[in-house]
Amino acid sequence: MIDYHVHLWRHAPQTSLQADVDQLAEYCVYSRRLGVTELAVTEHSSRFVQFDTLVRGWWEGDPSPARRAETCTCWDDELGADLDQYVDAALAAKAAGLPVRLGLEVDYLPGQMAKVAALLAGHPFDVLLGSVHWIGAWLFDALDWAEAQQQWASRGVERVWDDYTRSVEELASTGTADVLAHPDLAKVAGQRPAAPDEFYHRIAEAARSCGLAAELNSAGWRKPCGEAYPAAALLRRFHDYGVPITTGSDAHQLADLSWRLADLTAAAQAAGYLEVTAFRARNRVPQPL
Ligand SMILES: [Zn+2]
Ligand SMILES: [Zn+2]
Repeated sequence: MIDYHVHLWRHAPQTSLQADVDQLAEYCVYSRRLGVTELAVTEHSSRFVQFDTLVRGWWEGDPSPARRAETCTCWDDELGADLDQYVDAALAAKAAGLPVRLGLEVDYLPGQMAKVAALLAGHPFDVLLGSVHWIGAWLFDALDWAEAQQQWASRGVERVWDDYTRSVEELASTGTADVLAHPDLAKVAGQRPAAPDEFYHRIAEAARSCGLAAELNSAGWRKPCGEAYPAAALLRRFHDYGVPITTGSDAHQLADLSWRLADLTAAAQAAGYLEVTAFRARNRVPQPL
C-alpha cells in the first residue's frame, strides 16, 4: 500500500514549521507497520512563504468584507514555512534510503495557477495533489468557521456542489496537479445533493480528460460525512472512465498516519481496480493493489 497524502504539521498553532529527516524516518517506521511501502509528503502549498508572495490577497475579490478578513486571518495563522527547506528535507530523506516521495497539496485559487505552476516547476516534485478547499474566499472544509453553517444555508447545497465541481473542472484544466485529492470534498459537512450523478460525471470526466489520477482518502471517515472520499458511486465512475487512483490518509499527526488504508484498498478492489499508481518525477508508476 502507498500513503500519498501526508502532512507534517497540524492545523493548530505551531512552534516550528521545519521539515526534518528524523520526523520522516519516524513516519516511515510507523506506516511500515501498517503495511505501507511508500509515503508521499504533501504539505499544503498555503504554508509556504514563497506561495504567499505570489498569491497574497487573492481573497480580495470576495464580496464579503467579513469573509475576506476571516480568510486573511486563517491564511496568516497557517503561514511561515520555507519551501526550499521542506524540499531539501524530503530529498535528504530519499537520499538516506527512506521510501519518501516529494509532493505538495496545491490549493486551487482561481486566476493564480499559472504563477503557481511556474513556482512548482522549479522543484523536483514526484507528485502534486490538486485540491479545492475554497469556494470564493469561503474555506468550506473548515467546519468550525463562524460563517460555515450560515454559508450552507444561504447558498444552498446544490449551488455549493455546482461551485465546487466547477472549481474541480478548472483546477484539472490548469495541468497544475497529477492527482485530484479528496474528489468529493464538498460532502465534508454531510451536505449532499439530491441527485449526485451529474456532479460525479463532471468530476470523473474532468480527471479523465485532463489526465489526472483520483485519490482515495480515508480522512472522510473522521468527518461529519462519515465516509471516505470518494463515495462508492463516484469511485465506480472513476474506474469506468479509466481514471487511475492513489490512496492516502491525509494525516496531520502521527496517530492518523496511514489510517484505514486497507479499507480504501478493499473499496478500490470492490470498484474493480487492480492497481494503484505511485509517482516518480510526476510520472505514473502503477503497482498491484
Ligand atoms: Zn485537502
Ligand atoms: Zn491534506
